[in-house]
Amino acid sequence: MKKTRKVYVGDVAIGGGSPISIQSMTTKETKNIEEVVKQINDFEKAGCDISRSAINSIEDARAISEIKKKTNLPFVADIQFDYKLALAACENESDAIRLNPGNIGAPWKIKEVIEACKFHNIPIRVGVNSGSVKQEFLDKFKGVNASSICYSAMEEIELLEKNNFHDIAVSLKASSVNLTIESYRKFSEMSDYPLHLGVTEAGSPKKGIVKSAIGIGTLLAEGIGDTIRVSLTSDPSDEIIAGKDILKALDLRREGIDLISCPTCARTKVDLIEIVNQGEEKLYKIDKNLKVAIMGCPVNGPGEAREADIGIACGHGEGLIFRKGEIIKKVPEDKLLTELLSEIEKIG
Ligand code: SF4
Repeated sequence: MKKTRKVYVGDVAIGGGSPISIQSMTTKETKNIEEVVKQINDFEKAGCDISRSAINSIEDARAISEIKKKTNLPFVADIQFDYKLALAACENESDAIRLNPGNIGAPWKIKEVIEACKFHNIPIRVGVNSGSVKQEFLDKFKGVNASSICYSAMEEIELLEKNNFHDIAVSLKASSVNLTIESYRKFSEMSDYPLHLGVTEAGSPKKGIVKSAIGIGTLLAEGIGDTIRVSLTSDPSDEIIAGKDILKALDLRREGIDLISCPTCARTKVDLIEIVNQGEEKLYKIDKNLKVAIMGCPVNGPGEAREADIGIACGHGEGLIFRKGEIIKKVPEDKLLTELLSEIEKIG
């Protein structure tokens, strides 16, 4: 894992070898306190570590301290242009600010925001999106590419560093997976600020999860990246589940049930798709860190799923329950799922 500086968003550490955290963003107007509180609490239940909300008005900023009283996740205030909103977010106990100092304008305004962040001891995430690279960098590097994205981000960082502020995280998002990967790779060679990974405008869950898994997954597998957000045109809980699945697939998070199942073949004599769908719903509610297998046949199933902590191998009329590849009992086929759940209950 690439060694980066560590920043804290509330009590969640980002960078410096800390566990990779998952972020998502609320979709309700932040001034609607109860709606936002519900969303953030749902995020927490789904396994999110850090929540971000758009701050578009002074009412939104003032809502932060109320929201924080009723939620546990660290709160990031997303500010576009208005430095006064950034100041108000700091005063109202935001745990981090997402803004680009270049969007704020006059240097004295940037200085005021930085002083407020220093005073409240909160970090700033700067971010460049492939759609918002400044003309100057587009001209210099001949279009939108990893260089123009990275140097654009560096310019934002310099505005903070000039004011002796280093509590920074960085994102460099592009809707192209290749450009996202190239940009983060390049930036991680240039700087040791912690990186917030994401593929922006990834689309619907069907396409977006694939794009994000490739983009975020490739970088994480190379040791690049400290916190992630999967952006989907969907309910934010889908982003969190996808984020968890990416981390689990890379063994970067072992939390809850990791379900594996076989692709089925001519040896499968049951409706395995239906069994897996039913099983998934029940298993994802279990708060245990286990790898569970649902396999289509009793001959190859237990062996193929040897790395699972526990699993079932469906047969014809009867099936097997196995642990770590060893068969522990034979049960009627229609009792397999119930038996699996009761065996999981016995595991401490
Ligand atoms: Fe086929 Fe059995 Fe392998 Fe599933 S576990 S793919 S049913 S051989």
